[in-house]
Amino acid sequence: MWHILMFGLGLIIGSFLNVVIYRSTREGLKLWDPPYSFCPNCKRKIQWYDNVPLLSYILLKGRCRYCGWKIPLRYPIVELLTGVVFLLNSLLMKDSLDLFLACTISSSLIAISFIDLETFLIPDYLNFTVVASSFIVALRERFLDHLMAFFIVTAMFLVLKFFYRDGLGMGDVILAMGMGILLSPFPAIIAVLVASISGILFALIRGKGKMDIKMRIPFGPFLALGGYTLFLISYTTRWL
Ligand SMILES: [Zn+2]
Repeated sequence: MWHILMFGLGLIIGSFLNVVIYRSTREGLKLWDPPYSFCPNCKRKIQWYDNVPLLSYILLKGRCRYCGWKIPLRYPIVELLTGVVFLLNSLLMKDSLDLFLACTISSSLIAISFIDLETFLIPDYLNFTVVASSFIVALRERFLDHLMAFFIVTAMFLVLKFFYRDGLGMGDVILAMGMGILLSPFPAIIAVLVASISGILFALIRGKGKMDIKMRIPFGPFLALGGYTLFLISYTTRWL
């Protein structure tokens, strides 16, 4: 029962993350103003019954009730993804503080991934949330191991940044630092390798086989995916 509640909470948080993603990727929109959800096309306020995660999207057949605007598939995807990740967190974490930290980190990572895909930027407050929560996770684990991973990953990314100046944003470097403190050295190195390989593959596919040094790669989603997967694996198997 508890796990189903966590899945439901994930759907609701996912719906909120959609607002964060939408408002962070557009100039002149504040996170809290207006305090209600509105249709990006006709600007009309969305009633609560049209704002139920996942269900409303299905009932409205993916369109705005008033203007018929096609709601991007990203909305139900983010809701479902957050629900599934919260469910996984509640199945795997051993106490409520770890569960809270894991949910905070994964929510921030989901928002970071989708914002980075659209804008190539990562908002500082989201990166800060990841780094601070990961730091508390590290304090509860073998802290020196995590600190070592932090320095290894930071060094790797500063070298990468030196050679790949334009392609790698400072936001990616800070996010990598967060993933470093979240993990111990061996999983951290694997996470960075997974992120780099999948990021470069993504860039190759997007650039249709061509790739030049100036091309920007949104590394956020790949770092998030690699880092968080390795965190869940090393946390559950105690392979740290
Ligand atoms: Zn509308």
